[in-house]
Amino acid sequence: MKYFEKLLIANRGEIAIRIMRACRELDIDTVAIYSDADKNALHVKYADEAFHVGEAHPSKSYLNMERILDIAKKSGAEAIHPGYGFLAENYRFAKLCLDENVIFVGPRWKTIKAAGSKIDSKQMMKDNAVPVIPGTEGGIRTISEAKKVALEIGYPVIVKASAGGGGIGMQIVQDEKTLEDAIAASQRIAQSAFGDATVFIEKYLIQPRHIEFQVLADEHGNAVHLYERECSIQRRHQKLVEEAPCSIMTPELRSRMAQSALKVVEASGYTNAGTVEFLYSNGNYYFMEMNTRLQVEHTITEFITGVDIVKQQLAIAAGETLPFEQKDLSIRGHAIECRINAEDPTNNFSADPGKIVRYRSPGGPGIRIDSGIHMGYTISPIYDSMIAKLCAWDSTRDDAIKRMRRAISEYIILGVKTTLPLHYAIMNNQQFVNGNTHTHFLQEEHILNTLERYTRDEETRMQTLAGSFQQGKKVAAISAAVNLYLQQKKD
Ligand code: ADP
Repeated sequence: MKYFEKLLIANRGEIAIRIMRACRELDIDTVAIYSDADKNALHVKYADEAFHVGEAHPSKSYLNMERILDIAKKSGAEAIHPGYGFLAENYRFAKLCLDENVIFVGPRWKTIKAAGSKIDSKQMMKDNAVPVIPGTEGGIRTISEAKKVALEIGYPVIVKASAGGGGIGMQIVQDEKTLEDAIAASQRIAQSAFGDATVFIEKYLIQPRHIEFQVLADEHGNAVHLYERECSIQRRHQKLVEEAPCSIMTPELRSRMAQSALKVVEASGYTNAGTVEFLYSNGNYYFMEMNTRLQVEHTITEFITGVDIVKQQLAIAAGETLPFEQKDLSIRGHAIECRINAEDPTNNFSADPGKIVRYRSPGGPGIRIDSGIHMGYTISPIYDSMIAKLCAWDSTRDDAIKRMRRAISEYIILGVKTTLPLHYAIMNNQQFVNGNTHTHFLQEEHILNTLERYTRDEETRMQTLAGSFQQGKKVAAISAAVNLYLQQKKD
């Protein structure tokens, strides 16, 4: 059964290719869009058809709703998959698609709109007996009210933008003295980033874990969860390493959290794929927000459940019924994802765009790579710095960590700085190995302080590996270099 004849992918990079891969297996023709900066990008080459969408800046290309809909019509695409980022959580775009008779692969526009307000969705969850983090009811109206609430819940508190995303506009406040300034700063940032200055306060949890549940719901009232992912290892409140399942999960906690996640689905009339995010602290969990799209880290859920989430999204969008019930699903093994960003972790994660002069990706059992880069590719400074996702699966968490270390040691990316050395350090950190992770892991474990040496070693190792490939010595040279590298790590 063919869900669609033709699908337009309103995105770029690895996620555009990920969606096109599902389409190719489903025999659906794909339409790519590309900006001036992406003429030679891999997603353009992968697609069956490609259309120029505009200038490099996203506002002129990947965010240009009218132009994208024009291309959908011109190419005869019946549906649009937005990927993540760009227009994925823009309810106006979902509504425009509906008005123009093009299927938007995602939830209904009203659901996206409701979930887009952290304040409204928190209130809705509270009304449905899903635990939420204590804080202001609604947005902050006056400073005296904010001070009163902060005093009640106790410092530290966090000021957050209701329309926020990507950790933007968050301010942690330790005491009353700095509250007013933090609120003003948060409002300013929220206004310029999201066009909405509404901010709210909630209790700042100390060393929580970020645990989220993947859900799928069809348009016939059926919904399932695909278990949890832990995404506690973050930089600037953005995820760097994710794993599934969560290392501290118990059947009892999972059952309670999954029930809450499905309550969120029911209460919001949710359809298609989504993620319910929680923070977990001291035995309690709290609803944080609903992400109404495919997540970057959907890969690890696919590894442990065997469900192809993108194919399910397309099936649901085509009006199909979910092909399984909760009782048909189970967890198999353990999966980890490392986000490979073109960034310098030794320099406050500053972006490091540029040309990739040597590239070789790992392989072998249990390894998955989603990326839009290749040798000779020039990473543009205009778009997100995430250039690849490296995922490792094995039957236990320990084995998955070992497999990830092995895969990282095979990875060669030369020409730009990346987060690879950081991931190697994390995979070798004893607290990580013990499963003791939380959202301040990088700072508390002082991993960044040790990175300078790791990065130097890493570059030498990659040069060695790259050199041996060139000279054709291959296998022996690779294992010698890898062994040398691993030996150095132990020292
Ligand atoms: P965004 O939508 O901007 O990505 P989220 O609400 O999803 O923001 O939160 C992102 C991250 O910020 C969380 O994973 C966590 O690390 C941190 N965070 C958010 N709210 C709190 C809180 N109340 N206490 C502690 N950390 C928080």
